[in-house]
Amino acid sequence: MDLTGRQLALSFDNGPHPDVTPGVLDTLARFEARATFFVCGKDIAAPEQRALVARAKREGHRVGNHTQTHSIEFGACDDPGAPAREIEQAQGALGDLADPERWFRPYGAGGVLGPRLLSRAAVKHLVDGRYSCVLWNSVPRDWEDPSGWPERALADMATQDETLVVLHDVPTGAMAALATFIERVLAAGATLGDDLPHECIPIRGGLIEESIEGLVGPD
Ligand SMILES: [Zn+2]
Repeated sequence: MDLTGRQLALSFDNGPHPDVTPGVLDTLARFEARATFFVCGKDIAAPEQRALVARAKREGHRVGNHTQTHSIEFGACDDPGAPAREIEQAQGALGDLADPERWFRPYGAGGVLGPRLLSRAAVKHLVDGRYSCVLWNSVPRDWEDPSGWPERALADMATQDETLVVLHDVPTGAMAALATFIERVLAAGATLGDDLPHECIPIRGGLIEESIEGLVGPD
């Protein structure tokens, strides 16, 4: 496969996990690669969990907010207070682990880009709070297929110049394939970096920069 000139950015959601995240960080360090970690408020209450996120931050990775409970799709929720609660509780839990850019990734079951992701209340909250909303353009479903996901990620890379892939540093076994995946990406001529594709950041620092049509559910 020839992926010359293509760019890949890695993101890891739903961690940290003590059995998985250290290995992911070790692998990233080995390749001198920077990535973005989206963590949920509920998962960073314990000191050992916070320590893993602090390590990620110290090693140059972005740390973002992935909601408090990872259970509410804003576009499919009729509680108008849910976005403020889910976003602010997690941001408070992150505290000084959060980046000044206030990266936020919504919860979307199955990683589907669609109207269940956001609501008008959620968009208003992100704009008012000057958040940067980070989506994705590759979901190789590592949780379903711990050994086969790299093929789908590479296939996605072949269709677009810049790929932001969603992976999960949770104990599915999928992260055992991370190092060989990165080796294949580099061997195919692509570059691994931490520039996020513009099209994946519809809201940047509170400004709506890309169309959010299709991502906002009915009120
Ligand atoms: Zn998630």
